Amino acid sequence: MDLKLFIGGKWVESESGEYFEAQSPATGEVIARLSQGTREDARRAVAAANEARERIAGLSVWERSRLCLRIADVMERRKEELARVLSQDQGKPLRTEAQYEVGRATLGFREAAEQIKWLETSVIPVEDPNKRVFSIRQPRGVYAIITPWNFPLNIPVEYLAPGLAAGNAIVWVAAPTTSVCAVKLAECLEEAGVPPGVVNLLTGPGPVVGDEIVAHPGTDAIGFTGSAATGTRIAARAAGKPLLLELGGNGPTIILEDADPERAAARTALGCLINAGQVCCATERILVHERIHDQVVEHLVRCARAVRLGMPDDPSTTMGPLNNQPVAEKMDRHMADAVAKGARVLTGGRRAPGFPTDLFYEPTVVTGVTTDMLLNTEESFGPVAPVIRFSTPEEALAIANGCSLGLVSAVFTESTRQAFYFAERLRTGIVCINEHTDYWELHIPFGGVAGKRSGIGRLGGKHTIQEMTDLRTIVLDVKT
Ligand code: NAD
Repeated sequence: MDLKLFIGGKWVESESGEYFEAQSPATGEVIARLSQGTREDARRAVAAANEARERIAGLSVWERSRLCLRIADVMERRKEELARVLSQDQGKPLRTEAQYEVGRATLGFREAAEQIKWLETSVIPVEDPNKRVFSIRQPRGVYAIITPWNFPLNIPVEYLAPGLAAGNAIVWVAAPTTSVCAVKLAECLEEAGVPPGVVNLLTGPGPVVGDEIVAHPGTDAIGFTGSAATGTRIAARAAGKPLLLELGGNGPTIILEDADPERAAARTALGCLINAGQVCCATERILVHERIHDQVVEHLVRCARAVRLGMPDDPSTTMGPLNNQPVAEKMDRHMADAVAKGARVLTGGRRAPGFPTDLFYEPTVVTGVTTDMLLNTEESFGPVAPVIRFSTPEEALAIANGCSLGLVSAVFTESTRQAFYFAERLRTGIVCINEHTDYWELHIPFGGVAGKRSGIGRLGGKHTIQEMTDLRTIVLDVKT
C-alpha cells in the first residue's frame, strides 16, 4: 500500500517519487510505504495553505463548529479501523490503549466544536469618552504543526481541532514512525469535508519537511510536540513566530511517609507503565520516604510483574513493544548507566526475549537510584520505575526540582499542608496530588513551567484556542 502526501485537498506523490517503509514495531512487517516528502513538497503545502486560509477563516464560528462535529462523526464511524492502524503502527495494545486513544481523539473534535462557540472577548473601558475599545480573537493564519509518535492521533488532534475551530489553515508534519495513522486521520478530515488546502499533511524526515515549514515565511505560527532538543532547534529556526511548544518531562513523584504505600505504588506504577512509559508526562522518578520505602518497592514490583507484555492485537496484552530503536536504545543506555553506578534491578531491566522484534522491553523496577544517574537527570521514555530514597521533604523537593525539565509531578500524602507545600514549590506546569503524573483530560491546561525545557504555552480546551488565535484590539471613534 503506497500512501501519498495530502496537499491542496489532493493525495499527491512527493516530487522525489520516493517512499519509505512503515514497519510494525511488534512484528517487523512492512505495513505500508509512505511518501518521502522533500523541501519542495513542504513549500507546495505552505502555498496551498496560504491559498486556503480565507476558506477556513471566512466560515462562521458555527460553521467551523459543525465541521469539527462532522470530523468527529467520521472518526466515530471509522473507529475500529483507526484503532487497528494505531495499534499496528505505534505498537500500543489494541484493547487497553488504542481504542481509548481513538475515543479521546474523537472527543477532541467535539470539545473544540463546543469551546469555540463560547469564547467571548471583552469591551474595555477607556478614559476617552469618544472611544469604544473592544477585543476580538482572530485566526493566526497558517500554522506549522509537528507531532511525535507516542500518541499519533491524540497529539495531532490537540492542535488540529482547536486550530480548525479557530479558523487557521494548517500544514502538518507527522512523525515518520507513525505516519500511517496520520494518513488515516487526514482521510477522515477529507471525508468530513474540510475545504481543500485547509489541512495539508506531509510525511518524511522532520529535519527536512519539518524544518522547511518552521522556517518558511509562509507559516505564521508554530505548534510542536516532541523532544526538548528538537523544540529548542525549532524555536531558533522559527525566529519570532508565536510558539506553542510541548516538550519532554522527567516526572518526579514524591511519596511521603504518611501516604498509603499500596495505593501510592499502584497509581505510580500506572504512571510509569502506560503506553510502555512513552509519555511526556510519565512518572520517570519515584522519590520515596525511607520509612515506607520497602513497602512501596514491594508493591511496585508486584504491579510491574502483573503487566502482560505481548502482541498488541492480543486482547490479554496490557503493554506492547516500544515504538522504535532509538527509544529502546535510550532505555538500554539508562539501565546500563544505573547498574554501573550501583542501582539494583528488582524486575525487568532488559529487552524481552521470544518476540518477533527486539522492541519489547520488560516492565522494570530499579532501586538505589542516585541523582547522578541518567534515570534521574534525563527523560527515559520507557517502562521503568526508578526509585530514589529520601529522608526529609526538603531533600525530596530539591531532588525533584534539580532537573532541567518541568512538565508534571505528583505527590502522595494524607496531609493537606504537605500537599500545598509541594504544589506551590514543585517546578512543573502540573502537580497531581494523590494521582499519578499521567492524569490528563482534554480541556485542562497542560504545559511546562517557565525556566525549564518542557515547553512554552498551554494546550487544552479554551487554552489552545487562545494560543492559536491573535487577540486583536479594535478602537472605534464614536464622536459625532
Ligand atoms: P522528536 O523531537 O525527535 O520528534 C518530534 C517531531 O519532530 C517528529 O515529527 C520529527 O520528525 C520532527 N522533527 C525532528 N527533527 C526536526 C527538525 N529539525 N525540525 C522540525 N521537525 C523535526 O521527538 P519524538 O522522539 O518524536 O517524541 C518524543 C518526545 O516528545 C519526548 O521527549 C516526549 O516527552 C515529547 N512529548 C511531549 C509531549 C507534551 O505534550 N509535552 C507529548 C508527547 C511527547
